[in-house]
Amino acid sequence: MARNIGPKCRLCRREGTKLYLKGSRCESEKCALNRKAQAPGQHGTSRRSLSEYGKQMREKQKAKRIYGILEKQFKKYVNDSLRSKGVTGDSLIQKLEGRLDNLVFRSGFAMSRSQSRQYIRRGLFMINGKVIKIPSQQLKIGDIIKPVSFEKIALKEGFVLPEYLEANIKEKCVRLAKMPTSQDYQEKVDIQSIIEFYSR
Ligand code: SF4
Repeated sequence: MARNIGPKCRLCRREGTKLYLKGSRCESEKCALNRKAQAPGQHGTSRRSLSEYGKQMREKQKAKRIYGILEKQFKKYVNDSLRSKGVTGDSLIQKLEGRLDNLVFRSGFAMSRSQSRQYIRRGLFMINGKVIKIPSQQLKIGDIIKPVSFEKIALKEGFVLPEYLEANIKEKCVRLAKMPTSQDYQEKVDIQSIIEFYSR
């Protein structure tokens, strides 16, 4: 599957904020934003004030980069959300947060979403007892995420499970208890701006 394989820290510098793309390094002093906060490129030091269109575009770029999704798939999520019967913003959040790679990361079974994608492709995760190797698989309420083995994965330490996930300590698995809405959304992304961008 196509994906962005360029330097990750450069993406954070472009957005001017931490996107947490490199696991534990992002929490450390080594984070590139601590050393070099300006945008990459020749004109990186002079951040221009953006038009409304420019701001909306940056929000969708930020979201794509956080979740590691390319334009075609991202646009499909937005268009499907615009056609859905519920609240468009919540529908988009559910499509982004409901991906298997995101939920493995949110469950603390991986240090970053890119590591989560590697684990999934290597067949290290089961959904409801069955190995699934598709990072973009959408999960539904009640689905149970469990590592095939804990030997080959790096657990994330000191994190808080979001309210829509339930841990089962005895079974060493996590259950999707409900679909997240804007109330549960943790990323600093303006979802409404993204919807407006694609509604033009
Ligand atoms: Fe972004 Fe992490 Fe690189 Fe910091 S270390 S710039 S948060 S990817």
